[in-house]
Amino acid sequence: MDSKEIRKKFLDFFEERGHKVIPSASLLPENDPSVLFTTAGMHPLVPYLLGEKHPLGKRLCDVQKCLRTDDIDEVGDSVHLTFFEMLGYWSLGDYFKKESIHYTFDFYTQVLGFNKNDISVTVFAGDETAPFDQESFDTWKDEIEISEERIYKYDKSENWWGPVGDGGPCGPCTEMFVDTGLEKCSGECGPSCHCDKFVEIGNNVFMEYNKNTDGKFDKLKQKNVDVGLGLERLAMFSQNKKSVFDIDIMLPLIEKIEELSGKKYLDFPKEFRIIVDHIRSASFAIGDGAIPSNKGAGYIVRRLIRRAVVKTRQLEMAGISLSALIPSVVEAYSDVYELNQDQISSEVEKEETKFSNTLEFGLKLVESQEELSGKTLFDLYQTYGIPAEVTIEEAERLGRRVGVDDKEEFYALLKDHQDKSRTASAGMFKGGLSDNKIETTRLHTAAHLLLAALRQVLSKDVNQKGSNITEDRLRFDFNWSEKLTQEQISEVENIVNEKIKANIPVQMEEMSIDDAKKSDAAGVFDDRYGEKVKVYTVGNSSTSSEPPFSREICGGPHAQSTGELGTFKIAKEESSSFGVRRIKAVLT
Ligand code: ATP
Ligand code: MG
Repeated sequence: MDSKEIRKKFLDFFEERGHKVIPSASLLPENDPSVLFTTAGMHPLVPYLLGEKHPLGKRLCDVQKCLRTDDIDEVGDSVHLTFFEMLGYWSLGDYFKKESIHYTFDFYTQVLGFNKNDISVTVFAGDETAPFDQESFDTWKDEIEISEERIYKYDKSENWWGPVGDGGPCGPCTEMFVDTGLEKCSGECGPSCHCDKFVEIGNNVFMEYNKNTDGKFDKLKQKNVDVGLGLERLAMFSQNKKSVFDIDIMLPLIEKIEELSGKKYLDFPKEFRIIVDHIRSASFAIGDGAIPSNKGAGYIVRRLIRRAVVKTRQLEMAGISLSALIPSVVEAYSDVYELNQDQISSEVEKEETKFSNTLEFGLKLVESQEELSGKTLFDLYQTYGIPAEVTIEEAERLGRRVGVDDKEEFYALLKDHQDKSRTASAGMFKGGLSDNKIETTRLHTAAHLLLAALRQVLSKDVNQKGSNITEDRLRFDFNWSEKLTQEQISEVENIVNEKIKANIPVQMEEMSIDDAKKSDAAGVFDDRYGEKVKVYTVGNSSTSSEPPFSREICGGPHAQSTGELGTFKIAKEESSSFGVRRIKAVLT
């Protein structure tokens, strides 16, 4: 079945079962500056999963464009892409586990013709906070009759979703894998193993709990189901291929590169795959408005194009523009997505031109060194526009040394540079604020002052329950059950404005999570943090015996000093959900 047919049959199958088809949202999230791209079908539906009523009802389905920069290092293996499509369907307080497991399984077997014996599944094993997912287990074992040795039980690290922030809806999931029939790589090998034996083809998430501030899990009144299936992986098995790069969408691109380079895909699989993947992602991102630039989503697009350019050099495609591949991308998705070939080609060409001016010099510099110091990596990035990962990859290919220290030195230099130029978007693929406009940074600092002021005025037990910052305003949710009085609102505003007037420096310290806890920094202490965290303080530093006004674990970036903020004003105070209030505030 080609991918067009799979999309159509998927939507038909779920429409027949009472689901309304919703359109694919943009790759650039509309109301969420915390991420650069839409990474899953669930993403645009978060408000509805949190309880808002969807105008089309309780059963929905769609095909969602997704871009995962986190998977960039995986590209080159047989199943990971940065751009892919997720077939999704949802029950918003309608049917639950049993029905949804049947739906997903029936779609695999009845529509795609997958063999039941090739499918392995995983369920949540249970722990001290939430029980074993008996219902999913029983449905797989007794109703669908998957043999018990192919039902794997895993803990929260594998089979649990959410909550999005410190608290909120979350729950177990059950994942489905195609067993490719390869030998197990070890005795422990199973679906959670990263060898190629098991390929994940879908994930049914069951939101049935609410995680409270005390860390306890209560049952939710409205239970939701969120399901995501990867189109390209389904096509791969449906078309009997060994990788997602061999499916109908990708083949014309592979063939075009073979034609342009005179090289064979089989001889250079990794280079071919990276070019194919990156040009697709760049095309879709540009199509949705992310133009190559030096920050945010635009910087990701720049890096995708530049890395692809370097790969074309390795295939000796000198003088051939990547834009020669764009007609094949547009054609592969005709009738499904409208991609403006001229606009995309023109943006890609502009970016290539910019890069070509410096690339040669940059690559020569790489070649001339025995070991690439952090300083060289930084110069190549800063002066020649070569993203660090591209330099590192190129250096390794040429047998040059890039040590861990060199990489660390690079990141330190980069950070220093960013702190100075205050555009933190420059280097990172992962995490951080997407929008580094100066206004956003200021509002980010204002959010810290707001939390500290709320703790003074209301209670020291006030915690952040979520936030959303754009360049115009901040939105801040916190645990509190009553409407704030006008006096309380004024008091909070006054405290924040006093701190702004006092022009206090915003200090950043890096420390271990334990030290952060000891220093009483606000934050969510779960496993989301790495070993080292950044702690931002306004007022006394962590070495002082006096407590500061504000101290929070946070990725930043922040204003350097509170004086930069202007005047703080609460524009609105309202209920967000049960026991949670929401403040919208601006800086004028
Ligand atoms: P994996 O462990 O293979 O990276 P995942 O756990 O990240 O998958 P989910 O976040 O559950 O995947 O996404 C739902 C489905 O989307 C997956 O079952 C898979 O079919 C598909 N998918 C996820 N990431 C990718 C990717 N990078 N490329 C292609 N398909 C993907
Ligand atoms: Mg993944």
